[in-house]
Amino acid sequence: METILADMTKSIDPDLMAHAGRIIRSGGLVAFPTETVYGLGGDALDPDASRKIYAAKGRPCDNPLIVHIAQMSALDAIVSGIPAAASALADAFWPGPLTMIFHKSDLVPKETTGGLDTVAVRMPSHPAALELIRQGGGYIAAPSANTSGRPSPTRASHVYEDLNGKIDMIIDGGPVGIGIESTIVDLTEEVPTVLRPGFISLEMLRSVLGNVRMDPGLRGDDPAFRPKAPGMKYRHYAPKAPLIIVEGEADNVRSRIQSLALEAEASGGRAGIIATDEDVSFYTNAIVRSAGTREDEITISRRLFSILREFDDLQVSVIYSEAFHTPQLGTAIMNRLIKAAGHQIITAEGGST
Ligand code: AMP
Ligand code: MG
Repeated sequence: METILADMTKSIDPDLMAHAGRIIRSGGLVAFPTETVYGLGGDALDPDASRKIYAAKGRPCDNPLIVHIAQMSALDAIVSGIPAAASALADAFWPGPLTMIFHKSDLVPKETTGGLDTVAVRMPSHPAALELIRQGGGYIAAPSANTSGRPSPTRASHVYEDLNGKIDMIIDGGPVGIGIESTIVDLTEEVPTVLRPGFISLEMLRSVLGNVRMDPGLRGDDPAFRPKAPGMKYRHYAPKAPLIIVEGEADNVRSRIQSLALEAEASGGRAGIIATDEDVSFYTNAIVRSAGTREDEITISRRLFSILREFDDLQVSVIYSEAFHTPQLGTAIMNRLIKAAGHQIITAEGGST
């Protein structure tokens, strides 16, 4: 299959967008930018389109897709009952990087929800995403537009690397703004529960709803608790080289990473280091990338996945990353980084956590 590349980095091209809408309505797949990461879209109400999404990504078929809508009135048809909490959250955060889980209506095929009776819904804020949803019939199922297991795509070139020849079109809207996937909150539980941390933090949700909890399965260090979002149990974002996170006091972290990079070089390897603007110049004898600045944490979430992809291309033998416990996004950034590291965390002062 030839994949059409639609350049909409400057503005939305109405003809190409109309064509993209026709592709979705006739059961095809279009990758498109959102404010979080690029999505791989198909008609959410068409079971065959959902099957194609799983096939193109190599995604396990019990890992449900998020349904994207462009207007609040679209929610009625796909969910059975809209709880008051949903209206409050939608007023506060839609369109935006928040996904809510509802009991689904019969209109949504089980192929889209990975066999579940619940459905995940989000209204993105990116103008190209909203236009594609409108033109594509109002309901677009879209997981991240990467090969399953690889870092999520934050640029159209990442989508091209993974899916060229497997999908009908890629809409290039330039680099995304946030860079990590949406916050997922489950509204089918008695207490609204965060199943995946994202840009919309627990504190932001609590400021609207009062009582909100984190899924205990998110901690990942206790086998007694399994994550409730099916997707959270899979190996994710894994770079080809082993990735190790170094925690601790800033000066100690720098010295420990620097000495680990020297050890890697001494044994014939080459380390990749994920640092920040504040200390990138400290490191030598390694390939060093700054994720961004600790003064503006969204710069870190925005660049993290593309650095992981770049280290794959550069074939580093090992990756060391500083930890990023920043105020609003720290929980979400560290959730992705810890998954990418397969839970390999050491403390700069010695030992592992
Ligand atoms: P992705 O779009 O690739 O970020 O993946 C969608 C995420 O949403 C996965 O982690 C899914 O497990 C989660 N998800 C989608 N639908 C549901 C649902 N009905 N219940 C719980 N989690 C869901
Ligand atoms: Mg994904």
